[in-house]
Amino acid sequence: MADTSAVVANPGSGEYEPAVPIATSPIFDWPPRPIAALRFLVKPVMLPYGVCWAALAVLTWNYLTPSMERMASLHPGWMAQIYVRNALILAAVAGSLHLALYVRRSQQQRYKYDRQWMSTTNDEFLWTNQTRDNMFWSLTSGAVIWTAYESLTMWFYANDWIPSVEWGSGWPYLSVLTVGVFLWSSAHFYLSHRLLHVGWFYDHAHYLHHRNVNTGPWTGISMHPLEHLIYFSLFMLWWVVPAHPYIVILTGLFQGASPPVAHAGFERFEVGRREGRTTRGADYFHHLHHRYFECNYGNRPVPIDKLFGTFHDGTPEAHAKMRQRMKSRRTR
Ligand SMILES: [Zn+2]
Ligand SMILES: [Zn+2]
Repeated sequence: MADTSAVVANPGSGEYEPAVPIATSPIFDWPPRPIAALRFLVKPVMLPYGVCWAALAVLTWNYLTPSMERMASLHPGWMAQIYVRNALILAAVAGSLHLALYVRRSQQQRYKYDRQWMSTTNDEFLWTNQTRDNMFWSLTSGAVIWTAYESLTMWFYANDWIPSVEWGSGWPYLSVLTVGVFLWSSAHFYLSHRLLHVGWFYDHAHYLHHRNVNTGPWTGISMHPLEHLIYFSLFMLWWVVPAHPYIVILTGLFQGASPPVAHAGFERFEVGRREGRTTRGADYFHHLHHRYFECNYGNRPVPIDKLFGTFHDGTPEAHAKMRQRMKSRRTR
């Protein structure tokens, strides 16, 4: 387990110190702040990344998905096609981030949370190589289980076994549902992640993801198959809530291909040629979970951690509170 006695940042050590406290969605604030909550949904939930994932889902549905007629019967051919498409999208996102940040080291250590690079000598990892190990779990179990849930849901739609909404008449509902995908993903992540920290589930499954104290893009969905089964079970919501194949694809893309961004290890990505131009990178909220284990089980859009007292906002005060909580748990 990580060294929980360490302080959050080491001033003067040269380590990058992110701005704290971490801001979360105000949706649980009391008294309610509906305008602030709505503003948070626009940015950062939808802008810039939410809109990009939604656009990619539209393209994927229209051009990279087998026809409904084909998907009406379970056949390995079209499922393999979906697997290849999902694996390629995952590889494009994680691979390009890895190449830029860890192979070319285009921004060196600027905005990097941890001074270490990916390990190549740790025998906890397959082939003692963290990147190869992470790629293995992501592209085998990860992309396969993501594809299995997506294919099953598409098969249900193709046979009219689950409720669906037409885009033509239902576009206002489906637009709201598009934002709902990100909130559902966040709430489901907290719930499933809490379960994965329960003794047996941690020891048999979740430990695999947590070998990565220092994370990189390929760490995103580098998980045990049992964790993948739980992590991707969010698709099941669409078996009861009316939706559309585009929503199903967006669910998969966001759950499967956005974690490489959140785990990239750099808080900001330098973009373009102009010096100082950056865009939002990996999530400090989740980085603290990898560093300390006992905090930040969810993420920022639906911060259930705030309700249950497990939120670490990156400040020394929050760190002291977390240590106190762990101490009282041990002495109970
Ligand atoms: Zn993680
Ligand atoms: Zn965890």
